[in-house]
Amino acid sequence: MDIALVGEKTRPEDWLPRLRERLPRDRFFVHPGVPDPASVSVALVAAPRPGEVAQLPNLKLAQCLWMGVDALMLDKSLPKDVPIARMVDPSMVAAMTETVLHCVIDFHRGFHAYRRQQGERRWAHLKQHMAADRTVGFLGLGELGADAAAKLVALGFKVCGWSRSQKTLPGVDCHAGEAGLAAMLPKCDMLVCLLPLTPQTRGLLSKTLFDRMKQGSALIHLARGAQMVTTDVVAALDSGRLAHAYLDVFETEPLPTDDPLWVRADVSITPHIAALTEPRTALDVIAENVERVRRGETPLYLVDSGAGY
Ligand code: NAP
Repeated sequence: MDIALVGEKTRPEDWLPRLRERLPRDRFFVHPGVPDPASVSVALVAAPRPGEVAQLPNLKLAQCLWMGVDALMLDKSLPKDVPIARMVDPSMVAAMTETVLHCVIDFHRGFHAYRRQQGERRWAHLKQHMAADRTVGFLGLGELGADAAAKLVALGFKVCGWSRSQKTLPGVDCHAGEAGLAAMLPKCDMLVCLLPLTPQTRGLLSKTLFDRMKQGSALIHLARGAQMVTTDVVAALDSGRLAHAYLDVFETEPLPTDDPLWVRADVSITPHIAALTEPRTALDVIAENVERVRRGETPLYLVDSGAGY
């Protein structure tokens, strides 16, 4: 079978040697540059330019190398009959949970404030809270949100979460719908965003949402920049509604060097690294889906194009 890497972020140097070793029967190409685009059955995509995937006319599967497929969903030229699968990589889930735990514990134990005190050479104890005193809310209880929520439950935090459909997760106070969000927000000391970017979630992290949160709470945004109205985050920080924001994703990436967010002591910035695809484990998902295509079976982790994720 012919398989092509498509998109400027596919990192062929990482993938090609592993793919060739794992799937020795198949031929691998980097697109553009496939000698016969009509021969390609599977596209492995990361940040393809609009129209690039559609140049492969006989695709049986577009396998995204990332967990979020929002960029792909915006490509109107994608043939409707080509199934899209997203990457659900166990190492990526583990990495995201580590990032969530880091941010939650940094805020909960006041390490963010102790960093500021160090800058001022100030030796002072801040109030210590118990995990059981703190409520962590999740926007999104999918592969990523559910795993991090379970780990926080194990650490003794109160955990609540919001999803499109009602969920039942051990130890998690689960909510759905507008009423569910309204009920959850005022309880949260920390709010973790792990929603996919869709028309419904674009701009959700806005004044309307922050106004319903506790004074002095924290935002931990690890999903997609376009879900956040940056001016509203800044206003919420300035008013003290948000005591701290952990931001991994931004409306413009890379974050411009002159962006005022960089120098705020109440903002922790990471360059969209909350969870990266790990080829060593993601390869299992790709290999399984290639074999499923070969056998004419339904691939794993197909995207619901109606829902957009
Ligand atoms: P997922 O398994 O598809 O879960 C998405 C969750 O969001 C589900 O619980 C879903 O509800 C909920 N949801 C979707 N639309 C909603 C809406 N309108 N209202 C309420 N809930 C809604 O996704 P995932 O694998 O956990 O990944 C989530 C996102 O994380 C990705 O899409 C990506 O953007 C981001 N991400 C970021 C990084 C990074 O490095 N920063 C890395 C990986 C992923 P249902 O359960 O009812 O469907």
